[in-house]
Parts: sequence; C-alpha cells; structure tokens
Amino acid sequence: MKIICIGRNYRDHALELGNKPPEEPMFFLKPDSAVLHKRHAFYIPDWSDEVHYEVEVVVKIKKLGKAIQKKFASRYYDEIGLGIDFTARDVQNVLKEAGHPWEKAKSFDGSAVISEEFYSLEKLGKGVQNIDFDLSINGYIVQSGNTSDMLFKVDELIAYISKFMTLKTGDLIFTGTPVGVGKVNSGDKITGTLEGFQILNVNVK
Ligand code: ZN
Repeated sequence: MKIICIGRNYRDHALELGNKPPEEPMFFLKPDSAVLHKRHAFYIPDWSDEVHYEVEVVVKIKKLGKAIQKKFASRYYDEIGLGIDFTARDVQNVLKEAGHPWEKAKSFDGSAVISEEFYSLEKLGKGVQNIDFDLSINGYIVQSGNTSDMLFKVDELIAYISKFMTLKTGDLIFTGTPVGVGKVNSGDKITGTLEGFQILNVNVK
C-alpha cells in the first residue's frame, strides 16, 4: 500500500505558505510505515519545533490501474475517508530552500493519520467534488473545506498519477489541504469531520 499526497491543491492554502498555485498536479509519497496506528496518540518528533496539521479528504483506490483515462477514473474508487498529513514545516522549509526532496518532513513515522471509517459516495449521496470536511483543535474549527475547491479534481489526479505509477488496490490518495494549516502542540485534541461525521480523533503528545 502506498500513500500519494497532493500538494497545493487548494488555492488559498498554496498562497498561505507563499507558494504559487501549481499549473499541474504535484505529488509526493508517504510509506506504509508513516501510518499512525489506530487509536494511538501522535507524538511530536523531537527533531522538529513546528509540526503542522493538514486535514485532507482521502480517496481509496479499489482496483489496479495504470495510465487511467480521466473519463474512466471514477471506476477506480467509491469510498472516501479523512486524513491528516502531519508536516514538519521547519524541516520542510530547509529542504525546500535546498531543493531537496520532502520525505524527512512529510513521511516520518506517524505522519499519516487515516480515519478508521471510510464512507461510500453512494451512502453519502454526494459526488466526490461536493464533500464538506473540517478539522478542530481543542473544539475550535481551524480548517474547513469543500472538495469543490480542489484545483485538480479527483479524476484528474488519478489520470495524472497513473501516468507515472501504477495504482494498486488499497492505495490512498490524500487530495490536498484547504487553508488554515497550523502548528500542533502537546496536549492538543484533534478531531475531524467528513460530511458531518466525526471520524478523526487524535491526541497530540
Ligand atoms: Zn498535505
């Protein structure tokens, strides 16, 4: 299983970090070792002073595909969940400056939070590009988005990624984060909702 994360897929988030909205999708990977174990706390790594939360809608790939045409992309998924792409922003800034890959900042142990529950789009009664989601820290909403604001839509992302790498059953696509990213602190209680269902719950230590 691999996790493909889309960077800068919401305009206002790209701008808040001083980045230009991209002209084509950009993505990076998290290994399976990055997945935070179910019901475990997230421990801020001792080598970073600025770990950010990024809430993202997660699309689960349901069958093998390569070079998938956009018009057929919707055949490759029918369930979505919610995730957090924890990012060591201080480390990422150094890597960005040096033109180096981001893995140290993005792919460390525990950096991928994935909801236990995934919902079928049929059950939600919604298209994948009309999904509300949000993230709260200690009861206050800090990020709230709707997938209609994605710069590159899910079907475009699947077509784009699968030009370069085969998508396999169970692969997950983190589809990018809306505006409002920020630092987590020890003691924070993070919750996230997808279409009103609270399906993320993480304690920060
Ligand atoms: Zn992200």
